[in-house]
Amino acid sequence: MAKKIVAGNWKMNKNLQEGIALAKELTEVVKNPNCDVIIGTPFIHLASVAEVIKGSCIQLSAENCANKASGAYTGEVSAEMVKSTGAEYVILGHSERREYYNETPEILKEKVELALANGLKVIFCIGESLEEREANKQNEVVKAELAGSVFHLDAEAWKNIIIAYEPIWAIGTGKTATADQAEEIHAYIRSCVAEVYGAEAAAETSILYGGSCKASNAPELFAKPDIDGGLIGGASLKAADFKGIIDAWG
Ligand code: PEP
Repeated sequence: MAKKIVAGNWKMNKNLQEGIALAKELTEVVKNPNCDVIIGTPFIHLASVAEVIKGSCIQLSAENCANKASGAYTGEVSAEMVKSTGAEYVILGHSERREYYNETPEILKEKVELALANGLKVIFCIGESLEEREANKQNEVVKAELAGSVFHLDAEAWKNIIIAYEPIWAIGTGKTATADQAEEIHAYIRSCVAEVYGAEAAAETSILYGGSCKASNAPELFAKPDIDGGLIGGASLKAADFKGIIDAWG
């Protein structure tokens, strides 16, 4: 069975003090969850938040890392640096980074490899635009995104990949994919994983849904057999909202 996960993606929100306060609040309200709980924070928060959540059930993720190992890349943050903060995960392939920072499948492949080489687990985001959905191209889009950046990994490396299906038209828009729409493509994604890594590995791969997921729609989404949890943007910025989604796992 795939691990059940609720992961937050704070994006470029919260200054350091606000981030520490939110992490503290989460350690107080999230107790004995029925899923893994991860918070994805900006780089500058990582080391401090790692201290705050030490000994709690909350795990830590970065939202990005460089596609170079080290050296003269002013302003970049390497996978090794991320790992040294205490973070265990990194979110890669988010549609905002693909779109606004021109992250191509090749760049993402380099980032994935460096993240894994440095002992990070990768939350790898895929998902189609509204135009692609309207042209019924969502399956070919997600398969190409997987093939372009992660399907070259060997079976051992694959165990450190979590997939987040995030239809771009549902991110931050208040428009959620219906549970049936999400389940249909999650099942397809799992079948793609099975083609490459076999049925057993596919069954053990966590496939998260992201896109305007909140406490009110999480129970219906998480009840679907191929939805193993959520990657949460807006609703991860308030402890009560995030906890509401975690509680959807019962
Ligand atoms: C995201 O960007 O990862 C996301 C799912 O955002 P939101 O929950 O705000 O739609």
